[in-house]
Amino acid sequence: MDGKTSEKVFYITTPIYYVNDIPHIGHAYTTIACDTMSRYKRMKGFDVHFLTGTDEHGQKIQAAAEKQGITPQALVDKIHLNFKELWKVLNISNDDFIRTTEDRHIRVVQAIFKKLMEQGDIYKGTYEGHYCVPCETYVPESSMGPNQTCPDCGRPLTMMKEESYFFRGSKYVPQLIEHYEKHPEAILPHIRYNEVMSFLRGEVRDQSVSRTTLKWGIPVPGDEKHVVYVWFDALINYATAVGYLDAPEEFRHYWPAVRHMVGKDIIRFHCVIWPLMLLALGLPLPQSVIAHGWWTVDGEKMSKSKGNVVDPFKMVKDYGLDPFRYFLLREVPFGNDGDFSEAALVGRINSDLANDLGNLLNRTLQMIESYRGGVVPEGNNESGKSNIMGSVLENVDSAMESFAFDDAMKEIWAFIGRANKYIDETMPWKLAKEPDKAAELDAVLMNLYEALRLAALLVAPVVPQTAQRMWAQLGLEGDPLKMLYDKFSWGEGAGTKIRKAEVLFPRIDVKEWQKAKEEKKKMEEGNKAPAMEHEAEIEIDAFKAVEMRVAQIVKAEEIPKSRKLYKLEVDLGYEKRTVCSGIKAFFTTEELKGKRVILVTNLKPAKLCGIESNGMILAAAVKVDGNAESLTLVTPDGDIPLGSRVS
Ligand SMILES: [Zn+2]
Repeated sequence: MDGKTSEKVFYITTPIYYVNDIPHIGHAYTTIACDTMSRYKRMKGFDVHFLTGTDEHGQKIQAAAEKQGITPQALVDKIHLNFKELWKVLNISNDDFIRTTEDRHIRVVQAIFKKLMEQGDIYKGTYEGHYCVPCETYVPESSMGPNQTCPDCGRPLTMMKEESYFFRGSKYVPQLIEHYEKHPEAILPHIRYNEVMSFLRGEVRDQSVSRTTLKWGIPVPGDEKHVVYVWFDALINYATAVGYLDAPEEFRHYWPAVRHMVGKDIIRFHCVIWPLMLLALGLPLPQSVIAHGWWTVDGEKMSKSKGNVVDPFKMVKDYGLDPFRYFLLREVPFGNDGDFSEAALVGRINSDLANDLGNLLNRTLQMIESYRGGVVPEGNNESGKSNIMGSVLENVDSAMESFAFDDAMKEIWAFIGRANKYIDETMPWKLAKEPDKAAELDAVLMNLYEALRLAALLVAPVVPQTAQRMWAQLGLEGDPLKMLYDKFSWGEGAGTKIRKAEVLFPRIDVKEWQKAKEEKKKMEEGNKAPAMEHEAEIEIDAFKAVEMRVAQIVKAEEIPKSRKLYKLEVDLGYEKRTVCSGIKAFFTTEELKGKRVILVTNLKPAKLCGIESNGMILAAAVKVDGNAESLTLVTPDGDIPLGSRVS
């Protein structure tokens, strides 16, 4: 292609996201991690290809489209933009965005299906499973609800059988085991390696790869009552995007260098089924599959029902893009589960970004401005290079090699810390007062400037906009994102005229922030309905024991001694009764006369204000602090004889 050696090629993929999902922090995390890695590798001189996209077939899309009265294609054409929009907002530098409904992909899936069928690795059989008829979908045993019910609609599942094509993956299992034994580094982190190996050494069954019960999918070539099952279709996207069918040369260039980043929940698809498919196709296996953990929010599992799903659009709006990107990669050891909390994010902004990085830039530029008229002096670079720089480039590289983003960030911030310490140790403000220390001051200022020039390059992959702002303030030309680490040489920045500008990251006043957050929370709670008080569950018999009948108020009069009660005479058709009711605040006696109500007739008689009350009228009240604010009587909806039983 372009003469670059093969080890300088780097092809990285996110999973293709299910297009019907609302993009959340998990999607943002995977994609930011891939973006940071891509940007880093580009600055290491690699020919990078970074792919993301959307998975657009399947029953759920079909059902959602039917509900909206549009075609599935029209639906996915609309909603895949949610992801495209987010990647724009998150400054994602993907080279391609693949959609599984694109023609380029459909042709590849059909070609691969046909090839595997012709070589006998796809064969016809019978698929049997638990099926939800209304949802038109099979439910794997692992996700069934209690008593074999559908996890989506709760209805009972039925066993169903249908004709299906199967992929003979089992045939290639020994070959895959051998590969992983030789390449344990192909599954990261290592804890996932053991999980995959024990699965492979168990019983790996052939996988069903087609459905006749599904309509929204890619037709099986030559047998169009079948469509290709979604995961088989989806995995192939990685091959489609680099020209498996249309550009064999490009494919050969990128394919052996492929890395898949995935969430730990889809590791079997990527470390077992996909490699088995590749072995059947005679293609090289991926360099590595990197599985990351899940996010909790303030220590709790993220879920729609809890309402704690983190919206990346909102986080960027509230805290800025680069702080959000930095936080996600810094906060969690890669591969582990991580906890998202806005308080921790604010902490990182104040300590790492405003204090460590922001202050280093601010203090250094200030001193170059005051002591040397804004021009970086020439000076001896040895002390700075060994004291500050150390082996940060090598350390960052080895962390990035194993996708340990958090370790890479720690290395970079240790380097920033050394530069800050260098200021405290050399005390330039003292040197500036002694004319015979001018050369020493020159060296200190130049070394600090060089530390910042390197810092801008080191942080560029994770906080690209910040790097560009630093670059401009350092008075440098060009785009730091297009620089190469190997070309960096400590000391070359002497003579540059700086352009000091605004503070990089304003500190967040934690007290003010907390106050604002609490006020907002109160306001949100105020808009919600007050908490419900519920009674304990009862048996139907307990309910049946309450006798309620339709009655009509025939007379209403005040009780002189009572502010709350009326004395009512009600007609049940078969008898008349006297009832005392606490509804005086809400009705006049005139309003009540003739009203049809529901009366509890078997309540023990009670004496109220000296009057015996024989029954209770049903009413619904809006209560504030235990007192009824407004009240309405429960009345029968339509004509019904007095005395009719309510049940
Ligand atoms: Zn269902």
